[in-house]
Amino acid sequence: MSSEFYLSVVPTPIGNLNDITLRAVETLKESDLILCEDTRTSKKLLDKYDINKPLHSYHIHNEHKVVNRFINKILSGVQVALISDAGTPSISDPGYLIVREAIKNNIEVDCLPGPTAFVPALVNSGISSDKFVFEGFLPKKKGRATRIKFLKEEKRSIIIYESPYRIKKLISELIDVFGEERKVSISRELTKIHQENIRGKLSDVSQKLNEKNIKGEIVIIIEGA
Ligand code: SAM
Repeated sequence: MSSEFYLSVVPTPIGNLNDITLRAVETLKESDLILCEDTRTSKKLLDKYDINKPLHSYHIHNEHKVVNRFINKILSGVQVALISDAGTPSISDPGYLIVREAIKNNIEVDCLPGPTAFVPALVNSGISSDKFVFEGFLPKKKGRATRIKFLKEEKRSIIIYESPYRIKKLISELIDVFGEERKVSISRELTKIHQENIRGKLSDVSQKLNEKNIKGEIVIIIEGA
């Protein structure tokens, strides 16, 4: 490691608690403290792997307030690991701010490879994984329509995170702008008991969704223009 101090960024499972790497467990066991979004959620995972380290809340509502405190801890020799509720920190989750501040303070950042929802969703989709763009969550209201119009011309495969409450609305917004023929794939509840992939043209997927009550976490992949 190029610096004497470092921050470990550790991906955690997106559903199935067995999806954690040996090195993630090792790194968390070697850390002095773990930053996490919701201590109760993370405790379930950490208990399963006998990881007993102090947990500190680090989430979008407090990260600006507490980031410097944890940077100073790392600079004083405390080994800090960052996790989020699920998947890879900093991917539609807190992480970017502390990584940026760590680098500014000459702290090396070590992000372990591991679970993230968009990779299995893209690979399962059967839509080209050669070139893709990650949009994360679209704006809920202001700017949403403009963003969807902008994406119409995107040539690469498009990855969107969406809530189950808005997925039917998103598909109808996409039909309005992209037309009915564009291919999509919806991956729901990846790695969990009710894992499901719904694939087809926008019109087919819309019909399939209308026959169901959609629950759970969702990634949508849209074929490029
Ligand atoms: N950091 C996470 C990652 O690496 O993918 C993403 C966190 S973001 C707050 C949560 C969103 O990720 C969900 O709303 C959903 O779009 C997606 N997601 C997370 N887990 C998922 C799963 N098991 N199946 C499908 N989508 C999932």
